[in-house]
Amino acid sequence: MTPGAREAVEALVVGGGQAGLAMSEHLSRCGVEHVVLERNRIAERWRSERWDSLVANGPAWHDRFPNLEFAGLDPDAFATKDQVVEYFETYAEKIAAPVRCGVDVLAVRRNDGRPGFRAETSAGVVDAAYVVAATGPFQCPLIPAMVPDQAGLVQLHSNAYRNPGQLPDGAVLVVGAGSSGVQIADELLRSGRRVFLSVGPHDRPPRRYRGRDFVWWLGVLGKWDAEAPAPGAGHVTIAVSGAGGGHTVDFREHAARGMTLVGRTVAFADGVMRFAPDLAMNVARGDANYLSLLDEADAYVVQNGLDLPEEPEARNVGPDPACLTEPLLELDLAGAGVASIVWATGFDVDFGWFQVDAFDERGRPSHRRGVSQEPGAYFLGLPWLSGRGSSFIWGVWHDAGHIADHIAVRRGYAAYGG
Ligand SMILES: Cc1cc2nc3c(=O)[nH]c(=O)nc-3n(C[C@H](O)[C@H](O)[C@H](O)COP(=O)(O)OP(=O)(O)OC[C@H]3O[C@@H](n4cnc5c(N)ncnc54)[C@H](O)[C@@H]3O)c2cc1C
Repeated sequence: MTPGAREAVEALVVGGGQAGLAMSEHLSRCGVEHVVLERNRIAERWRSERWDSLVANGPAWHDRFPNLEFAGLDPDAFATKDQVVEYFETYAEKIAAPVRCGVDVLAVRRNDGRPGFRAETSAGVVDAAYVVAATGPFQCPLIPAMVPDQAGLVQLHSNAYRNPGQLPDGAVLVVGAGSSGVQIADELLRSGRRVFLSVGPHDRPPRRYRGRDFVWWLGVLGKWDAEAPAPGAGHVTIAVSGAGGGHTVDFREHAARGMTLVGRTVAFADGVMRFAPDLAMNVARGDANYLSLLDEADAYVVQNGLDLPEEPEARNVGPDPACLTEPLLELDLAGAGVASIVWATGFDVDFGWFQVDAFDERGRPSHRRGVSQEPGAYFLGLPWLSGRGSSFIWGVWHDAGHIADHIAVRRGYAAYGG
């Protein structure tokens, strides 16, 4: 395509990450001619929006598509971010995915008086009967408007964090203790920094229990199939890590190594950061989540007569550190030597380019398992699109299958009668 060009395809997939590739594979299976437009490179976010030492959160046997294993990697190991990129590049070649890189989709609108959509891209116009938005679950970094630039602190989002050397000398406040926040805080602590970690509500599964990784336990216990977060738990993040070979995230152990835990970060004024008095409660809930998974796992072992080694020591909870029993409710950042803040506070999505009737009154994608109310418009890869696995590597592949099947059925109706 050259700028000013115009072409027609049956299906247009926007985004060349794991979701776009999964979509391509299933569209090919269904014989649907398509193109995948990617504004940067395949798996771009794994290349340029992740920190240097990041490894996958799940082991290689699990965090992959069904039709290809990670080459040269122990199935129980955790792929580095570069290995993930390589994996998806190889996958795109294997399935001969029609990906065009460096093409930005600027606007997609429904045609007037005829079916289908018109996409304006940085390389011309594409007409398509079906459009799948595969632009990612985590697109726009969210930083609460709390600390003004004039405060003289270096502030960055977890998606811009690369390594400890990138930050100015001094202590660091990491806000958010989901998988990104805990891993970054741990890396900073190991590099010799003083670290404050602001811990909100979280789930905290054991990395491994009775010889099996937690991804296996979630699978056999049917938890990956959950269709919606538990009531009231919509914002609960999951604290899990594959770093260093994979260890259970243990906030008490982090504190024992010198990390200062604080509650949710709620306000900033006159150089002082304030924290909610919820640290003990958040940690206790994380513990309860951890222990409940052990209970369910034990019950599963008994019920199914499995021969998995017992692991009573997994229930040992270390002593509560002082920062947990007498939590800081405010911190004079300069006084504590804090020179930077890493906000591991999540992401939003931006569908400004998708100008179709597929959104609710709050502007959120409105869909059922990715099938929107706008005929022919689809979403893929969003958190909880069909279930807990939807935004993860292995889960998106199955969701893509459902959408491709839906497109195949719809084109059958469209073709009827001539
Ligand atoms: C730090 C971190 C670690 C993670 N680790 C794991 C893990 O270990 N295992 C796991 O299963 N999941 C993990 N995830 C979750 C998930 O797998 C990733 O977020 C993954 O990148 C999502 O893939 P995707 O294809 O849905 O979206 P993305 O990777 O975001 O890909 C979307 C693509 O669309 C392109 N794009 C966007 N808008 C346009 C446009 N208008 N025109 C053209 N192109 C466009 C982007 O450039 C991008 O390449 C992690 C997420 C984060 C943030």
